[in-house]
Order: sequence, then C-alpha cells, then structure tokens
Amino acid sequence: MTSDWHTRDLGGLLEALERGAITPAALTEHFLERIRAHDPALNGFVTVTAEDARRRAARPRSGPLAGVPLAHKDIFCTAGVRTTCASRMLADFVPPYDATVVRRLDEAGAVVLGKTNMDEFAMGSSNETSAFGPVRNPWDPERVPGGSSGGSAAAVAAGLAPAATGTDTGGSVRQPAAFCGISGLKPTYGRLSRYGMIAFASSLDQAGFLARSAEDLARLLAVTAGADPHDATSSPEPVPDYPAALAASLHGRRVGVVKEFREAGLDPRVARLVDEALAVFEKLGARLVDVSLPRLGLAVPTYYILAPAECSSNLARYDGVRYGHRAREPRDLDELYARSRGEGFGPEVKRRIMIGTYVLSHGYYDAYYLKAERARALLQQDFLRAFSEVDLLAGPTTPTVAFRIGEKNDDPLTMYLNDIYTNAVNLAGLPALSVPCGFVDGLPAGLQLIAAPFAEAPLLAAAHRYQAVTDWHRARPARFP
Ligand code: GLN
Repeated sequence: MTSDWHTRDLGGLLEALERGAITPAALTEHFLERIRAHDPALNGFVTVTAEDARRRAARPRSGPLAGVPLAHKDIFCTAGVRTTCASRMLADFVPPYDATVVRRLDEAGAVVLGKTNMDEFAMGSSNETSAFGPVRNPWDPERVPGGSSGGSAAAVAAGLAPAATGTDTGGSVRQPAAFCGISGLKPTYGRLSRYGMIAFASSLDQAGFLARSAEDLARLLAVTAGADPHDATSSPEPVPDYPAALAASLHGRRVGVVKEFREAGLDPRVARLVDEALAVFEKLGARLVDVSLPRLGLAVPTYYILAPAECSSNLARYDGVRYGHRAREPRDLDELYARSRGEGFGPEVKRRIMIGTYVLSHGYYDAYYLKAERARALLQQDFLRAFSEVDLLAGPTTPTVAFRIGEKNDDPLTMYLNDIYTNAVNLAGLPALSVPCGFVDGLPAGLQLIAAPFAEAPLLAAAHRYQAVTDWHRARPARFP
C-alpha cells in the first residue's frame, strides 16, 4: 500500500484518483492523519475541518480537481467555518458565504482540509504576528516560514496539504514559498476575484496559490481565474488554458536580469543560486538581457505608506458593533469602539492603522499619501519600460533565506526590508511567481519571475520549463518524510 501521496503533485494525485488507485476519502484521510501527526510541531493550521472534509470526500466529486484535498489561508471566507484572519478581532467570526476563490475550487471538486495560520490580517513577513502563535518552518523549526501566508507554505512544504491558497499584498505568497522551498504564484491584480477575501490594502491585495510545482499552480489558476460579478476589480480579460500553455518553449525569450536586484543587502549565496538558475534559462534557449528599474528603491517606502493608508481605512469597519470582537460592558459608545479595537487588534495591526491614519490626515496627505501615489506611478513606468525590452524579469524572491523566529522583531524596518524584491510587483499590479532554486546551509532559496499584466501563461510556462530540467522543487524537508 503506497503511503507517499503527500509527495505527489496534483497531476500525480489526479491520475491516481482517476485510475482508482486511491479514493478521495482515503486521500483525505491520509492528509488529515499527517496534519494530526505533524501540525502540532508547525502550527500551520488555525482550524482543521476534518468532519466537513470527510463528508465532502465521501460524496462523488467531479471537475478538474475532483477529490484533491486543499487548504485555505484563513483570510478567505468559508461558509459556516470560522474565518479568523489570525486576529482576536475575528476569533469567533463565522461567515455566511464562501469567497469566490473558495467556491470555484469547491466547484472544481477540491476537498478542503482546513484553514491555515497567517500573519494577523496578512500584515507581516514572518508569521509571527498571528494571534494564534508563530508558524514554524518545516526545514528548521527555529526559523520562520515567511509570511503572511506562512501556514499555507509550511503545510504544503511538510506534506500536510498538496496545495493551498494564499494572498499577496506585498509578497505574502512568494516570500513564504521561497522560505519553504515550494512554488508560489501571485497573479495580475484583478485576475482573481477578491470577493470574500478579507481586505488589507485593496489596491494591492490579490489571491494566489502555494503548491509543489508551476504545473500545479497552472491547474489552480485555471479553475479560479476570471471575472466575478461580485468584485468590480476582477478583470474581464479572457482566461487562457493555463495547463495547455505550459508546453511553450523558452527559445528566443528575453529574460531581463534586473540590475537593482543585485543591490540592497542580497546575500551573495542567494545571488549565486539565482545566477545558476539564470544559466539554466540560457541553456533552455532564453536570452539574458540586462535591465534596470531605476526607481526600485522607492518601492519599500511607497508600499509602507500606501498599504497602511488603505489598511487604516479597511479596518475601520471593525468597530465592535457590526461583527468581530466586542468589548464587555463599555460605559459608552466611544469606549465600546476604543476597547473593542484595543483588545481585538495586535501590535503590528495597530502600528499600521496609526501610520495609515497619520499619512491620510489633513495636514500630511499631500506630503505622504499623494507623494507615494506619484512614486507608485513612476515605478509602474519603470516596469512598463522594462517589458518593452524583455518578456520576463528574473531575480531573487528575498534577500536572504529564512531567518530565526524573533530575529527581526525589535525593529519593524528590518522586517519591512525583507519585501524589497516583492512589493514593487504589487505596486505595479503585475503577475509574479517564486520557484525553489537551491539551498543555503540547508535552507531553500527562491527565484522570482515577473511578467507583464495578464501574461500568467508564459510566466508559468517559463517556470515549468525550468522545473522540467531541475529538481529543487522536489526536495522535501527531512523532518517531515
Ligand atoms: N510583508 C508585507 C507586509 O507586511 C506583505 C504582506 C502581504 O503580502 N500580505 O505588509
């Protein structure tokens, strides 16, 4: 009897299900058993929906992902299942409806195992801001898995789920994918509906996926992409056949090597792995072209003005009146607001709300918020110019491999600098992914590929060609065999 189902990619699982080598019920049981055995060491799940999963797996499933178990980041609303955003504010929130991404995966036949841990309201790069405690990196439990989709990344890397959803506002899918040695996709802004995805910074937020390979990412995107009447920011752009497009060759493709990605505290050992990956692209027929994003340096300061500004506005809805945490026995309405928010939000969320309120305030709006919007436009121009010269951009996903739990907690700025290669992509609304490209002292490093708007098909194809001739994405952490 085979018991290595957790090492297979979605294609392998679907083939085994179709052949009858395993039933959806037995596959679900396999992953539930792995969660039971291993999640206490990782803290990757906030909620395990074992009974629900068994019930769904027992019924006949149909669709492109029929019978495949998945996990959802706990930022996606799930009807009848607690959705916390890893915050005390929403610790008891049970949404009455499914997010569109959740519903589409359900319609594709997937079986949900549970909801994964994350940074509170997706604010963080290390999964240490969760109200439910930090998640641990399966490659080294003393290290962070990255954030904010750290629970999803750790679960997939340790084989507790074959794939999982995530969200990426400034890097939260790509960075944890890099730290955990798996593949992660952030599609173009608007490619996926954000309906039912709890808002952090609405002009930057996008749903994404964490999985074992680019091929798996293509399967997940194929069943979820496309316009949604519930989300006016979802794009009517036609949805190509992503899995079919994976066959495209890299021959003659121009891959831009971004000069500025070499600067800003890049660990030379990560740089060497990225160079080796670029050499593989060259061997596959791609042409490497030097390009520059001269204003990349504006990305972190711009992001850390705009994201808090939007978060302060979005999180104003948690007032203790409509839903979410409510303070007990307040003396009056003001105290109800103040205490509900004071008790419900953690320190990082409060810091962001304060920064956001400040940069939007009457006296500082022009100096900070408006200036940041202008900087964002300049950054977008840099990317547009680059994409007039090349088909893809390549570089590291993060400056270093996973750091230690607690290491960057004293100074939020050093934590924010970890997003240096990822958050510019959100400011420009572009699709990007991270794939594993090697190890530094036993810890995985990620290669980031970035494409022009709605060019997910060639982006995934490039990553797939790379994974066809390398096996970094097949490496698994020894602690979770
Ligand atoms: N690390 C970034 C932040 O803290 C990005 C988070 C995200 O993408 N959700 O805001």
